[in-house]
Amino acid sequence: ANQIVLHSRPEGMPVAANFKQVSVELPALEQGEFLVKNLWMSVDPYMRGRMIDRESYIAPFIIGQVLEGGSIGEIIKSNNEAFPVGSKVSAMNGWRSHYVTDGADHTLLPQTPINESHFLGVLGMPGMTAWTGLNKIANLKEGETLFVSGAAGAVGSIVCQLGKLMGAKVIASVGSDDKAQHLSKLGVDAVINYKTTKDLSQSLSDAAPQGIDVYFENVGGEHLTAALNNMNDHGRIAVCGMISQYNDTTPTPGPNNLAMIIIKKLKIEGFIVFEHWDSYPQFAKKMGQWLATDAIKAEQTVYEGLEKAPEAFIGLFEGKNRGKMLVSLK
Ligand code: NDP
Repeated sequence: ANQIVLHSRPEGMPVAANFKQVSVELPALEQGEFLVKNLWMSVDPYMRGRMIDRESYIAPFIIGQVLEGGSIGEIIKSNNEAFPVGSKVSAMNGWRSHYVTDGADHTLLPQTPINESHFLGVLGMPGMTAWTGLNKIANLKEGETLFVSGAAGAVGSIVCQLGKLMGAKVIASVGSDDKAQHLSKLGVDAVINYKTTKDLSQSLSDAAPQGIDVYFENVGGEHLTAALNNMNDHGRIAVCGMISQYNDTTPTPGPNNLAMIIIKKLKIEGFIVFEHWDSYPQFAKKMGQWLATDAIKAEQTVYEGLEKAPEAFIGLFEGKNRGKMLVSLK
């Protein structure tokens, strides 16, 4: 089997040399085990944090060991009745072509006409993150104004569409005109290209003269400063991610307007989606219906082949994706 291992820890922006493809011999199947051929693997921004040797909510990757991440595979040999040949499983065993497992932490995918890759995106962790942030953290209500950063990505594009379904006015921030046009087509009320705007805070105020009730934070830094300036009294900020800072080698200065939290009596709450996983069945039922009725559109950017996985991962920090960034291993 082929695997991608962490070859060295990135300093700043990750580069191809931080990764290495190796070939390993897989063991013969024992009783209770099965062999999986991966079909899809996910690359996600949080993996950058796991490349740093530090304590966090999830253990760091180890140099020389195969990387991990969301995966969807097909069982091609099995000594385990609960996991028959031909069924598809989701697991955290990405960055490898094949592997042998006893099925611990593996979930059989349901039979559905929806393409299995969506279980890594809209019907998986990123979709669940969007839904959790809006419903459980920010408590978005009909008629409110929602601002979303990183709005064309896996999480952000679902936040935008859920925001519209929940009856909010949605203002989005993205890094290209192409992404902006795409979000407009999805019904987003106003989109700011943060790379070409001179003054993000002013652009936000122009787009939302009535102020912002909920900010879904994916980016951090200047975006947080701009949002704080434009929040309404008793506004809520769901802090999901701060991707603009994941490659920083020195601490970025904090926003200089944190006093807005007091003046506007804001509620700011961070969250990690895995702590909310007990609500997954409730979410999946609703999202399945929205997808089936086209009420939510799930876009993907797909890189072909395991050897492209590092490039796909690095691409997240260069804005190369619209919708969920995936690697096809078929
Ligand atoms: P995306 O699909 O949104 O991909 C990352 C996107 O971020 C890029 O396409 C790029 O779009 C944007 N970006 C990259 N660098 C910068 C930068 N310096 N400044 C502004 N934007 C940048 O990833 P996800 O949807 O998977 O994740 C989005 C956020 O949600 C991340 O911060 C992630 O860490 C967080 N997250 C948090 C979870 C939780 O449980 N709290 C769970 C899942 C994700 P553009 O072209 O617009 O710049």
